[in-house]
This record gives sequence, structure tokens and C-alpha cells, in this order.
Amino acid sequence: MTVVVKPKALVDAKVRDFQMLIDGKWGAAAEGRTLERVAPGHGVTISRYPAATKADAERAIAAARKAFDDGPWPRMTASERSLILLRAADMIAARADELAYLDCIESGKPISQAKGELGGAADIWRYAAALARDLHGESYNTLGDGTLGVVLREAIGVVSIITPWNFPFLIVSQKLPFALAAGCTTVVKPSELTSGSTLVLGEILEAAGVPAGVVNIITGTGPDVGAVMTSHPDVDMVSFTGSTGVGKLTMSNAAQTLKKVSLELGGKNPQIVFPDANLDDFIDAAVFGAYFNAGECCNAGSRLIVHRDIADEVVRRVAELSAKVKVGDPLDPSTQVGAIITPQHLEKIVGYVSAAAGNGATVSHGGAALDLGSGQFMSPTILSAVTPDMAVAREEVFGPVLSVLTFETTDEAIRIANSIDYGLSAGVWSRDFDTCLTIGRKVRAGTVWMNTFMDGASELPFGGYRQSGLGRELGRHAVEDYTETKTLNMHIGGRTAMWMPRRNGLLSTAKREEKGGRDA
Ligand code: NAD
Repeated sequence: MTVVVKPKALVDAKVRDFQMLIDGKWGAAAEGRTLERVAPGHGVTISRYPAATKADAERAIAAARKAFDDGPWPRMTASERSLILLRAADMIAARADELAYLDCIESGKPISQAKGELGGAADIWRYAAALARDLHGESYNTLGDGTLGVVLREAIGVVSIITPWNFPFLIVSQKLPFALAAGCTTVVKPSELTSGSTLVLGEILEAAGVPAGVVNIITGTGPDVGAVMTSHPDVDMVSFTGSTGVGKLTMSNAAQTLKKVSLELGGKNPQIVFPDANLDDFIDAAVFGAYFNAGECCNAGSRLIVHRDIADEVVRRVAELSAKVKVGDPLDPSTQVGAIITPQHLEKIVGYVSAAAGNGATVSHGGAALDLGSGQFMSPTILSAVTPDMAVAREEVFGPVLSVLTFETTDEAIRIANSIDYGLSAGVWSRDFDTCLTIGRKVRAGTVWMNTFMDGASELPFGGYRQSGLGRELGRHAVEDYTETKTLNMHIGGRTAMWMPRRNGLLSTAKREEKGGRDA
């Protein structure tokens, strides 16, 4: 059984028509085509965005290039940029309800969760504003009397920012304020399924004082505009969050002009639980980790790796708690699991479950789509008796589906955890300090939670090992990611060592080489 909250019909809902932002002007796509978004929980069209083409992307890149090469943004003091970012953070907080509504209705996530994400996003903008003023290089006063070395941090240039649909506002907030703090200019492309809140962010940034051309926001599909954004020679860096497949494509497009790439990709994250864990806490975290954002979450704890001695109890208790999770209307404040992003994606999730059952896994709870009268929903699902070779144990299902595997020794748990291509995050549950630290050090993942799951803070770096990505977001180095370093090697006084012999008493080449001079 699943507790359901039937979606209320959106009787008064009007389709919101959005425009996109290029060089400080709002407008339609060059060819005038649009994309429509159907609310995944309510089944009605709620947003319409311009369907940008290659020409629009090129216009946006040209505007960002001009704003970087000739505009005021990279030349402002960090203090001035920081003030603008702080103003933007206040405006995000002031419009949080509107932004949360858009993310909720377009992505299908529960409204209470969307509001929480907006609070987190405003905090990230404030954190980036603080970091903006601390961006600095290094100096070396230790290179001898004749040399002073200074290492500058310079904004990298034009950054393409491409984001997915599962955390529309939060993910753009993990990238854009740091790029802006560094002095970069940007072209932003949200997912074609959830572009609304990013376009409202464009209004906020204009009102906060970001000059024209610094943030250009274009809407459209990956093949139409994402491809140009990742390959155009005038783009210096690509910051991408999305699937591992498109991440690889992004990297190969960027390789043609050797752009820097930052990639936040998929995950298949284990929660490893030992018999001495606080099981009450763990069971709650297992349910939260698996079903938060309907499991459409790169950080989802979609693999439970459970000690054999407690496996039956864990499956029983997780199933009991899963039956109490409220699934349904994303706009209802009591809903915990909302809608699935598209009908095609729901089919894919159900396909994974049927394939696992066909291969010997046991469906211990749920296992099917839910018909709630509109939109598309999936019942929270537990698959037990899963073996490490099954697709549900290795691939990102991206739905509310939990796979339970078992282990006997710590080494075996680590081996199973590390046996897949992903390495985004992991959790370990034990009251034993040694156990937690051993897992924490040996599991190859960018974040390891100990006796908690999916907590985060703007101060803590986030990113993946292996095919979960490249680079880290957030944390105190987040602004540096959007910079180049430049070495200024400065000579003090007259030339101390001539390469060509002279008769004026200066050192000859031979003498200079004796002193270790370097000419290469
Ligand atoms: P996706 O890869 O399909 O799309 C992501 C973005 O890339 C979208 O804006 C899309 O339009 C664009 N895109 C598609 N094809 C493109 C192309 N050829 N060139 C350039 N851009 C292109 O991913 P999705 O389905 O929107 O999001 C789900 C995926 O994102 C999951 O795999 C999830 O794990 C991952 N994700 C990772 C993190 C993280 O921080 N590691 C966070 C959230 C989501």
C-alpha cells in the first residue's frame, strides 16, 4: 500500500509565457518556435519557453564575449561584485515562493521541498558573495634578491553553464554566483523541461545590477543549443550538470578547443549499514535517501549494502516505513514524493523494476506506477535479493527504487560499494569509530556521510570520483574553479646574468649557467 495525495486540478492555471535574455534584452527565439512544458503532476501545459537555435546560442556567446572583453563586470572591484551578489540573494529570498512554485510545478517535486531548496540557494549566493572578496593569488618573495614572483588569479572568461531538471534553481546556484564572483561572463541553459525559475533569476540579476551581456539565458534542447555552447571557440569553460552520457559528449565537444570542463554527473550511491548502527535513525535515512525528490537525485542512496545479520529486519522495517510515505500532488504541503518528470522516464523506471524481478530480485514493496488521475507517479519501491551484477545495482534508475544487497565483511562491503562506474557519494552507519573511518577512507566517492545522509552546506565541496564527474562545486575553492592562474615573474635591478658574453663586467653565459640560470 502507498499513501496517496490525489492532485487537485489546476483550474485557474494559466500558461506562463517566458522570453529569454540575450545581451540585456528579453525576446523570442530567432525562428520564433517555442517549447511547452506539461506539469508532470497535473498533466496540463503550464509554461512556454522560446526554442532557441544555434543562431540564438551564437548571439548569446557573442554578447558574453563582448561583456567579458570590453565590459565593466570583470573590471569592477570584488567588493562591487559582491554587493550585487548579495542584493541578488535578498531578491531570491524575497521571490522564493514564486520560484519554488515554478520548480514544483515544472519538475513535479513537492512544494515543501522546493521551498527548502530556495532557502539553500539564497545561502549559496551569499556564500559566493563572501568568497568574491577573498579571491587572491600568491606571492613568492623567496626567489632571491633579483626576483619577485606573483601568481595572479584571473577570471577564466566566458563560461557556458548547462543544468538538468531535477534541481533547477539549486543547481544553477551552485555554478553561476561563483562564476560571477570570479568576474566571468556566462551563457546559461537550463533544462528544456524546467526553465522557468532560471529565467526569473535573469530578472533578479538585472534588477540587482548585473550589467547587460554578463548573464545570458537561453532556453532550448541540448542538441539545438547545448552542442554550440560546449564547442564554440569563444567559450573558455563549460560547467555542466547532467547525465554521464551527455557529460562525456560535453567533454569531447570541449576538447576540440581545449576548454576547461567541470562535470557533475550521475551517481549510484551506497548506504552501508552495520549491525551496531542506530537502526531507527538508519531506517529513516534509508527511506529519505531513496525517495527524496522521487529518487530523481544524483545523490540518491539507491543501493543499501546491509550486513547479512540484519538484512531481513532492515528490509521489513524499510518496507513498513515506505508504506507511510505520502506520494502525490506536488502542490500539497504534506506530499513527500511528487511526480516523475516525464511519462517516458516513468516507463524507464518501471522497466528497471521488471527486469530486476525477472532476474531474481524480490519486490519487497511497491514496484509499479500509480494512477492518480493526472500526471505520472511511481510507488516507492524496494527490491531485495539484488546481486551486484544486476542493472538496478549498477545503473542510475533515477526513480524511487531502492536496491538491497548484503555483505558479511567490511572488505566485501567496500568491494561492492566500489564495484561500479560511479563515485558521487556514500553513507556508512555504525556506532564504531573505526568502522566509519575505514569506510570513509576506502570508499571512492566525493562525499561520505557518517551516520547521516544527504546533508550539505555551502562550505563543503561537492562532486564525484570516476564517472560521476570532474571537479568540485561549492566549498572555499569554488570561485577559483572559474579562474586561470597567471605568473608574473619580476626582475629587480639590472640584468644580473647576460646570456651573451660582454666586456662590461657582467657574468658570462658560462658563469650564469654555473649559477643555475634557466632559459628554457
Ligand atoms: P541530461 O544530461 O539529459 O541533460 C542535462 C542538460 O544537458 C540539459 O540542460 C540538457 O538540455 C542538456 N543537454 C542534452 N544534450 C546535450 C548536448 N548534446 N550538448 C549539450 N547539452 C546537452 O540530464 P537530465 O536528464 O536533465 O538530468 C539528470 C541527470 O543529471 C542524472 O544523470 C543526474 O545524476 C545528473 N545530475 C547530477 C548532479 C551532480 O551534481 N552530480 C546533480 C543533478 C543531476
